[in-house]
Amino acid sequence: MKTCYNCGKQVKESGVIKEGVKLKCLKCFNCGEEFFSAGEMIRFDMLTGRRKIALN
Ligand SMILES: [Zn+2]
Repeated sequence: MKTCYNCGKQVKESGVIKEGVKLKCLKCFNCGEEFFSAGEMIRFDMLTGRRKIALN
């Protein structure tokens, strides 16, 4: 279990829809901060057309 970089509380796996793309994230229910893995950010970039090269 990871902790929030902002407030130090535990974060839980959650999901958000950002610009129409569903992403997994770790959400802090204390301060509301959301953390995305690098893989999810790359996927988001590709699905929104910001990144052209697929890694796999
Ligand atoms: Zn927090």
